[in-house]
Amino acid sequence: MRHRFTRPAGRITLTYLVIALLWIAFSDRAAEALFADPQLLNRVQTIKGGFFVLATGLLLYILMHRTLHRIEIVALEDSLTGLPNRLAFTRELALRCQTSLARDQRFTLTLMDIDHFTDLNDEQGHARGDELLIMTGQQLRRLLDRDWYIAHMGGDEFGLLSPPGLSIQETRERLDWLQHAVMRGSEHDLMLNHTLSAGSCEFPKDARTGQDMLRQADMALSRAKHQGRDRHSFYHEELKRTLLERLSLAKDLRDAVEQRAFTLVYQPQWSVSTSRWVGAEVLVRWHHAERGWVPPDQFIPLAEREGMIHRVTECVVEKTLTELNQAGLDRAALPSLSINLSHLTLLHDNTMSLLHHLIDQRADNLPAVMFEITETATMENLDRTLSAMQEWQLKGIDFSIDDFGTGYSSLSRLKQLPLKELKIDRSFIMDLPADQNDAVITQAILAMAKTLSLNVVAEGVETLEQSDFLQTHGCTIMQGYYYARPMPIEALTARLTEPVNEPTR
Ligand code: C2E
Ligand code: CA
Ligand code: CA
Repeated sequence: MRHRFTRPAGRITLTYLVIALLWIAFSDRAAEALFADPQLLNRVQTIKGGFFVLATGLLLYILMHRTLHRIEIVALEDSLTGLPNRLAFTRELALRCQTSLARDQRFTLTLMDIDHFTDLNDEQGHARGDELLIMTGQQLRRLLDRDWYIAHMGGDEFGLLSPPGLSIQETRERLDWLQHAVMRGSEHDLMLNHTLSAGSCEFPKDARTGQDMLRQADMALSRAKHQGRDRHSFYHEELKRTLLERLSLAKDLRDAVEQRAFTLVYQPQWSVSTSRWVGAEVLVRWHHAERGWVPPDQFIPLAEREGMIHRVTECVVEKTLTELNQAGLDRAALPSLSINLSHLTLLHDNTMSLLHHLIDQRADNLPAVMFEITETATMENLDRTLSAMQEWQLKGIDFSIDDFGTGYSSLSRLKQLPLKELKIDRSFIMDLPADQNDAVITQAILAMAKTLSLNVVAEGVETLEQSDFLQTHGCTIMQGYYYARPMPIEALTARLTEPVNEPTR
């Protein structure tokens, strides 16, 4: 590869040597033939020498200029989009900070990021990803005036510097508009199917050095993503505090994962048709030394973002099986047990193999194990979750679709999934039977589940009226505070083996 680029060097030098030698030989001869007077000949030789030095100097200049210019382009320009790259951006930013400080000017730095870009790369290949990056770069150039500095920072990130003269208010309005217009203003379906998140900070209000500016804009971008993407967010002091807190919580969670410091509780499920406990859902708990109990709604998303969710799930599955063994809870007392599974783990082959192995190796008389995966996550990544579910279902793992009703799945999509069970989301149960909308939705879900021959569990059943309504419309398995709260394994064992097989309400 290296030879290909440097090969012309040999050719150029050789051509130069030949021309130079020929020139010396022939020009000397010509001069001798033309000028007989030795003094004149001497002058002509000097002029000729001077001309030769000038010509080679000029040649050297052209070659050096071209080479250095190419090097500069390669070093500072992103070859894909033709925009300045990260190095060029950071140089420009440092310069901008210096001059703006001296001239008492303000400007805004914005980082933009294409939402779910890695999914596109994974699912449709890098060529499609590159196509989207090129179009995004072109669109930014088209929509912004020339005095905006636009760079491709690498990956799916773009950096912008607002023109120094623009007022803060105008800049804000322009950026808010831009965040929407880049993708939606295009006619290409690839662009229309994607959104952007953006984070900005202002000089000198938020930071005074390039490095700090980049960090604050990055924080604002994280916040935009954290709030659900497809939005533009500005840095402010509060943000720093929340981010620091999140980082500290993430660190503590990492320690908790290392020490496997999680507690499990089990919420049993009651069958109103057979008057028996038919299953239980495992729910993880984390006790933090200073914060007390951190709810799973807070630390599970954190574990997902920080790449720790697989370890958490491994820990939950291992601990569940150990606790069941120790408690002597067999299939007769508890037919089935549900464990929540993040879609990220479902797509992680190594962890799934390990979980499968653990479940497969458990004692024969232990309850059947089922994984719950939320409807929203399933539908967001349908192709990938579908094939993973099919693969693991063939190996004997059962799946239940959790929080059903919140993810807008259609009957045809649902039919494709290898499911055993569907759990109606708590939000639809909450206002039953009074709320007409919820009543209609619940009945539709139950009818759908019947068509697909799926077991249905109603979640968050808190009153007898809710339970009666559900039973009337064909739902027989109830989970909720009305029947039982989540409890430690000892309490579960006691509850399941109570002589009167009727829930204590
Ligand atoms: P989920 O899977 O929908 O779990 C049911 C949640 O509803 C539990 O909250 C449970 O305590 C609560 N609940 C049960 N019955 C009632 C009721 O009658 N009324 C009300 N208001 N709430 C009820 P919890 O334990 O705080 O869990 C919250 C979420 O955290 C779970 O929602 C699940 O998405 C996630 N989660 C919990 N454990 C795990 C786990 O081991 N792995 C994963 N990936 N996620 C987990
Ligand atoms: Ca669940
Ligand atoms: Ca649920």
